[in-house]
Amino acid sequence: MTRKNPFFEIKTARGGGKTSKGCNIRLFGCSFESKYKDMITEKHFEEFINFAHKVGDANLTVCSSGNLSWRIGNEVLISGTGSWVPEITEDKVAVLNLEDGRMLNGVRPSMEHGFHLGVLRERKDVDVVLHFQSPYATAIACRKVMPATFNFTAEVPCHVGDSIPMVPYYRPGSEELAKGVTQAMKEHNSIFLAKHGQVVCGKDFAQAFERAMFMEMACRIAVLNGDNLNPFTDEQVQEINKVFLGK
Ligand SMILES: [Zn+2]
Repeated sequence: MTRKNPFFEIKTARGGGKTSKGCNIRLFGCSFESKYKDMITEKHFEEFINFAHKVGDANLTVCSSGNLSWRIGNEVLISGTGSWVPEITEDKVAVLNLEDGRMLNGVRPSMEHGFHLGVLRERKDVDVVLHFQSPYATAIACRKVMPATFNFTAEVPCHVGDSIPMVPYYRPGSEELAKGVTQAMKEHNSIFLAKHGQVVCGKDFAQAFERAMFMEMACRIAVLNGDNLNPFTDEQVQEINKVFLGK
């Protein structure tokens, strides 16, 4: 049997496990079809890669500009440094220990792993963090003056958040940026990074993807309408929050 992913080789070596007939691999004595949800399996890699390709298909990111992470128990799958997310392959997916950021499979993570880990540590309610330079969110993040609100359609307060903060510019990959994002996402699910792009989080891929897409939609509305915007009133937002979110 061919095992392409070094993560599995490491785990197998550490655990002293053996490949058994009928199942892909044994990790610490547990089969591939493990009941232990916090153990990364080949299926997690496949799902991660499929999702990465999906965000590329949705034009949320191009080339090497975005990154994504997924918490599995105490470990995190994250796109590798310099990897092209829309066409990422298994050998470009890094595995990190959530607590100390240790590399577990020899693949170097995205330079933004600091905020991915920071958000996942702070937010026990989310397992996925996405960061993109999606076209319209990035156009907004590069403005001198921000629109007062992005509450143009009900999807925004319902899925993105009724306010979307902007983290000031810090160099990509810097500790300051990691701290700024982690802090902002304690209270928000979706944020802008000035002169950079968007970050969203979610309990799973579907929720995070929906947030990223609806944030991009709100930004598209803002850009296309220029000065002719007609956002919800505060009362309308309150009504949406009450009826749809029970707030
Ligand atoms: Zn970036």
